[in-house]
Amino acid sequence: MATKTNDPKRNSWIGYNRDTHFPIQNIPFGVFLTRDNVITIGTRIGDYAIDLGALQEMGYFDMVPLTDDMFMQDTLNDFISDGKKTWRLVRNRIGDIFDKNNPELRDHKEHRDRIIFAMDEVEMQLPVLIGDYTDFYSSKEHATNVGTMFRDPDNALLPNWLHMPVAYHGRSSSIIPSNIPIHRPQGQTITAGSDQPVFGPSKLLDFELEMAFITTDANSLGHPIPVKEAEDYIFGMVMLNDWSARDIQKWEYVPLGPFLAKNFASAISPWIVTLEALEPFRTESPKRERPVLDYLDSKKNSSFDIHLEVDITPQQGRPTTVCKSNFKHLYWNISQQLAHHTVNGCPVNSGDLMGSGTISGPTPDSYGSMLELSWRGEKPVQLNDGTERRFIEDYDTVTMRGYCHKGDLRIGFGEVSNKILPVYQPKSK
Ligand code: MN
Repeated sequence: MATKTNDPKRNSWIGYNRDTHFPIQNIPFGVFLTRDNVITIGTRIGDYAIDLGALQEMGYFDMVPLTDDMFMQDTLNDFISDGKKTWRLVRNRIGDIFDKNNPELRDHKEHRDRIIFAMDEVEMQLPVLIGDYTDFYSSKEHATNVGTMFRDPDNALLPNWLHMPVAYHGRSSSIIPSNIPIHRPQGQTITAGSDQPVFGPSKLLDFELEMAFITTDANSLGHPIPVKEAEDYIFGMVMLNDWSARDIQKWEYVPLGPFLAKNFASAISPWIVTLEALEPFRTESPKRERPVLDYLDSKKNSSFDIHLEVDITPQQGRPTTVCKSNFKHLYWNISQQLAHHTVNGCPVNSGDLMGSGTISGPTPDSYGSMLELSWRGEKPVQLNDGTERRFIEDYDTVTMRGYCHKGDLRIGFGEVSNKILPVYQPKSK
């Protein structure tokens, strides 16, 4: 259903460029630290962060039924728990407050000064307290590429893959917001032909281009979520870089799956873009290659057309875009993922994070990891400073962006960006 909030013709009295990811139609949610060191829930228009706690305190949400301190918290979990109806009322109200023709706040300088901050004055935090993190493996192209490299090109997909969105349970303690640097992980690896592992820095450090959705309280223990209702329990989406150490992964992952190769860091973009804002960009998932079981038969147009890009920027150098992909390539959509996750009665809580899996497209320039882009290191990726990369080196920064556009309307996620530091060295006494 189209809402006024999504009206592409609407303008704001906050100015922004046409190519911003955050026009008045976006209204994402995040948490930030203000210049006065106050932590607050906020939204963003153009290059300005808006303090929703201050707006609430000054009475701008009085017509919306909210608990008194809804936005004066350091996470969005309670707001997300309130459900879809509240999300919509709040987005509608924010759209109205910042509408070009509404003088309410526009002409109230004293209030504006307390509510609006330039983005470079605030420090973005994790938007939610993430209780549980699950990572799917829903790109057929990625699963096929990895299966081809590590197992057997003729049977690259395992027999279950076309019948269910497979996943593993990740670790939430190492999920970080954009801009936090990451030390290269160390661990056990083994060289081909050897039977004795060695310990040391990962030599095959990689990114995974992913997106993730954030849930509300969805179900009680034992109650599955029907696939056609799944979106009612999804608040919105973020970009996710699921950092991976391929050499550690290869040695450790049989039989229980990834462990230390993945849980040293996973980074997310700080603004959660709601499914409502993504509504104009719905699209169909790729054609089914096998009939799906009824519990996975999702509604039409359950995927989204979201352009994705990855840049590598060396310590001294300009960014090189090494990958262009799209969320719509995913074989399994978010409704199918959530329905499958809960079909056995597994409960999902407010603030849970569900990663898509690496989003690779059909062409070599759309592969969402260095493992695939450099094909295990056999085809180095050229950077525009003349150097090349097989995997990620110390002091490289990896930046991922995502945005949708249609006509004049552009809705984006901003970016998730992290620099890699050398292995952590304890300070000597
Ligand atoms: Mn992953």
